[in-house]
Amino acid sequence: MRVAVVGSGFAGSLLARVLAVQGHDVVLLERGTHPRFAIGESSTPLANLTLERLARRYGLDDCYDLAAHGRWVARFPDLGRGLKRGFTFYRHHAGRPFPANGTRAERLLVAASPNDHVADNHWVRADVDHHFVRAAIAAGVEYRDQTLVTADMLKSLRVEFVVDASGPGGFMARQLAIPSGLHRTHTSSDLLFSHFDGVRLFPDVVPGLPPGPYPDDWAAVHHLIDEGWLYSLRFDHGVTSAGFLLRDRVPGTPEQMWQHLLRRYPTIGALFGDAKPLMPLTFKPRIQHRLTRAAGAGWAMLPHAYAFVDPLFSTGIAWSLRAIERLALCFENGGPSERDLARYDAMLSAEADQIDRLVAGAYHAMARFDLFAAQAMIYFTAVSYAEVRQRVIRMDETAAWSGFLGVGDPRLAGLPRAALRRLRQVRTPGDRKLFVKWVSKAIAPRNVCGLANPTAHNLYPVDLDLLVQRHAVLGLSRESLVSALPALRGGGAGGGGA
Ligand SMILES: Cc1cc2nc3c(=O)[nH]c(=O)nc-3n(C[C@H](O)[C@H](O)[C@H](O)COP(=O)(O)OP(=O)(O)OC[C@H]3O[C@@H](n4cnc5c(N)ncnc54)[C@H](O)[C@@H]3O)c2cc1C
Repeated sequence: MRVAVVGSGFAGSLLARVLAVQGHDVVLLERGTHPRFAIGESSTPLANLTLERLARRYGLDDCYDLAAHGRWVARFPDLGRGLKRGFTFYRHHAGRPFPANGTRAERLLVAASPNDHVADNHWVRADVDHHFVRAAIAAGVEYRDQTLVTADMLKSLRVEFVVDASGPGGFMARQLAIPSGLHRTHTSSDLLFSHFDGVRLFPDVVPGLPPGPYPDDWAAVHHLIDEGWLYSLRFDHGVTSAGFLLRDRVPGTPEQMWQHLLRRYPTIGALFGDAKPLMPLTFKPRIQHRLTRAAGAGWAMLPHAYAFVDPLFSTGIAWSLRAIERLALCFENGGPSERDLARYDAMLSAEADQIDRLVAGAYHAMARFDLFAAQAMIYFTAVSYAEVRQRVIRMDETAAWSGFLGVGDPRLAGLPRAALRRLRQVRTPGDRKLFVKWVSKAIAPRNVCGLANPTAHNLYPVDLDLLVQRHAVLGLSRESLVSALPALRGGGAGGGGA
């Protein structure tokens, strides 16, 4: 089939390449050029599992190596990346330095991998996206950059199917006048970001914290504040990608906003005070977008073209890769049928809602750290359960079509909606305790990793012994889980997937 993929981010380029490997005739159209700057950098175990499945199924050995930190460094030392051992959260309060406070510190660390070798990575997108474009060209994809794509152009290229991988570029939305579905999205945040040189390490600024399951900074670091939160992703070459997600408008120029927030939160000020932005600070108001359709006759969108909620919990790369896997399977037998496209559309819609409810709940919960830590457990339960199942049961096609973040799972699917409803009603300390208790009970049927455990003091390592104890949660005998341990040691297992 003659296929056009519009947009050559990593997602468009990777799908174009897979389709070429399958024998399709693919043209990849890009309005810009590579290498080019992009944000959206922090990968997760579920993303890496998909990369590994794509590698196996379509013979993409580079994807296999890019799915674990040690393999990446050994095979592609020149492709920028950062070691990511887990998810780190701190709650800051205006005017007060972050107190070390022993085990009572407002700090949550969830390991995603047992060691550096099999750990996840933050992707330096300029390098990684360029790599995927070059690999697509090498696989036979016709690549045209600096191209203004129009309907006439697609007609003249005799394209039979169009994949919209243009991200917020909104190519297909404009071509087909697809209405916005943003009214469905509860989350609302503005973005203030750059890349920085010279960001200090957290333990250097706040000494005396109890040791965590991994060094705090080698993670997707989230600094929660009254106005929203700040992500901080450290790359191995010393650069840090950081950005505030703000639910309340902060006045001033981007530079004034940045300085205001650094002054207001002294520990963040100490971390970033001497850091130099490597490009001008950029402000983007309301970054959410959502459409009402993700596929139709002769076309489909990748997730980032269809919907975006917020970087909280790093869902973008994993979700994009899952969608690539699904579309690739549809193209194995010629091309997607009407039924395939309806299924794809329905999945993306349910998943966009799921991500939004989870993130919107987390924004409500940010007011109090106990609430936030509990809400985060819903995310970590959904991803760790999916991850362990995928590693142990190795369900290739079923994994691709399994719902992201618990969609379709009778025990998990309703939790983000129920949590959001409950969080909106929390008023008193008693309500908070009830919410924490409710989460712990609600996640129990899928809690393979001992999450929401008060004696863990919010520090969750990968614990394979505990996983074995919970074999019944996975529907496995103790023996079969023990025999699957090598697969689990090969990658992140417990402690939450991302
Ligand atoms: C602030 C922020 C932080 C994020 N952090 C994370 C994170 O930590 N982890 C995570 O998993 N996800 C994160 N995401 C989400 C992540 O950025 C996306 O999931 C990811 O970029 C999707 O990649 P893509 O290739 O689909 O699209 P993009 O990277 O958006 O690429 C789209 C490409 O299409 C091209 N294009 C656009 N319009 C046209 C057109 N009309 N014609 C031709 N080409 C066109 C563009 O030039 C670009 O090259 C974050 C997003 C934001 C906004």
